[in-house]
Amino acid sequence: MTEARYKWQLRYEKSEDGEISSVTTDLTRNGNRIQLTLPSDTAGYTVELLALGGVDSEPLCNPFTIALRRKEHLVFNGSSLQWFDKDGKEVPFKVDDTTSVNALKAFTGSADLQPPEGQDKVNEGPIPEGIWWLKRDNLQCIDDLGFWRGTFGRTWPGGVERWGRYRLWLEHDPETKNQGRTNLCVLGNESRNTGGNIHIFDSETDFTDMEVFKKNFVKRVESGGRLKMRVNYAKSYKKGDTGNDVLEINFRLTGFGGVLPNTEFTELTEKGVKQFQRDYMGMDTSTGIVDVNTLEAIDEFSERYRENVDDYKCSCGKCGGFGNGQYKGVYRDNEPELEMFHHYEYPGMHQSLLWAVSAARFYLTVKLGGEYSVKQIYSAYRCWANATTIRTKTTNHMGKAVDIHFNKNGSRTRDVKDMDILREKIFCECIGAPKQIRNSIPQFGWLNNQFGLESAAVGATTWVHLDVREFDTQPYLNDMYFVQCNSEKTLV
Ligand SMILES: [Zn+2]
Repeated sequence: MTEARYKWQLRYEKSEDGEISSVTTDLTRNGNRIQLTLPSDTAGYTVELLALGGVDSEPLCNPFTIALRRKEHLVFNGSSLQWFDKDGKEVPFKVDDTTSVNALKAFTGSADLQPPEGQDKVNEGPIPEGIWWLKRDNLQCIDDLGFWRGTFGRTWPGGVERWGRYRLWLEHDPETKNQGRTNLCVLGNESRNTGGNIHIFDSETDFTDMEVFKKNFVKRVESGGRLKMRVNYAKSYKKGDTGNDVLEINFRLTGFGGVLPNTEFTELTEKGVKQFQRDYMGMDTSTGIVDVNTLEAIDEFSERYRENVDDYKCSCGKCGGFGNGQYKGVYRDNEPELEMFHHYEYPGMHQSLLWAVSAARFYLTVKLGGEYSVKQIYSAYRCWANATTIRTKTTNHMGKAVDIHFNKNGSRTRDVKDMDILREKIFCECIGAPKQIRNSIPQFGWLNNQFGLESAAVGATTWVHLDVREFDTQPYLNDMYFVQCNSEKTLV
């Protein structure tokens, strides 16, 4: 009897510049054990472990799938399909050896029911918004059916002209309301008569026989278990747009360069979006346009770094936490009617301040070697009854300022040098507070419509004081912009 000789193989696909190739590695067995080290290029991909037996090296059993965390995803916005890697970076679609595109033109819905209209219209309307899954097992190729059955049979009615060579059936996520729409797929052809399917058709890239679909989709889907696709018809926001969504974007991105609260998508907004795309999303080429993917990233940022407004409450024990709305329009005696002398107890914390602290928390994770972190919101709202206010008569802290304590390597730092490093590198360079260099020493302070910083000379020796007192009262210090709990709504 010959001794059976089993061979173990690790199989996976790797992606280099959008090109997928297969890798097969033989594994050595040591007794009953196999030492398995996954190479770094398997990260994000599904890996299969296969037992091969005997002379013919036939698989002895189904492959063991080692599913690694895979966060690649697709976004379809009604007119184009994009692929993003686990870091949210666009993965280009390779058209041929020299050309690649970042988005494939695609459409859904009949000619008179274009997104977002008619998502509940079976056989006619566009695919409903939400999460849809692409699974390897749901991929079909007409070539596998044989010519006669494929072209004339019921499985592929209309043949290649109608369906293309490949089609990938979609499964809706349990959380997604599919509105009675089933049997929808992604396919590649130019026929416009199939309602909810997503048709990839890009005349500019002029690919024949759906080579792009094959090279990019088929290969990638075959290599993985399942992929998430977000269908979202939300319009994108760009310079010149206006409205409450834009205001919300301005708030969330305020800490990316000091974006002002405005219902208009301004030049400053565009700059902030670019900074966010570069620093948070890691995009090589920032667009300054808030598309679906950027909205998703903003939501993710908000989710991760949202401030707890309870930490900002007044500690007097007399007011409810945010004053009593006293002294609107009352200014300090013998002083001009400037915001810095305004006695008004604003009805909460200014949202720009909260989101600026969120951005600071983010920047601390990627800047200064990650040495520093926020220890606590030491003092924020202080009403007129607050002991500190009675003593100092300061008006900034009635919703417009926050004092923050920091840790260095895990424990509180009171070093004024550290505060100056934080003021300069985080609050000036990232969040847009002004600084001046005098005798090669950075100076901190205030400029119109920018976040303000107290310097150590003014008293902020062991903490960072950040405020919005130099924002124009109208429109930037509108009562509506002060909150007692931070926004939890999502943008996508
Ligand atoms: Zn109080």
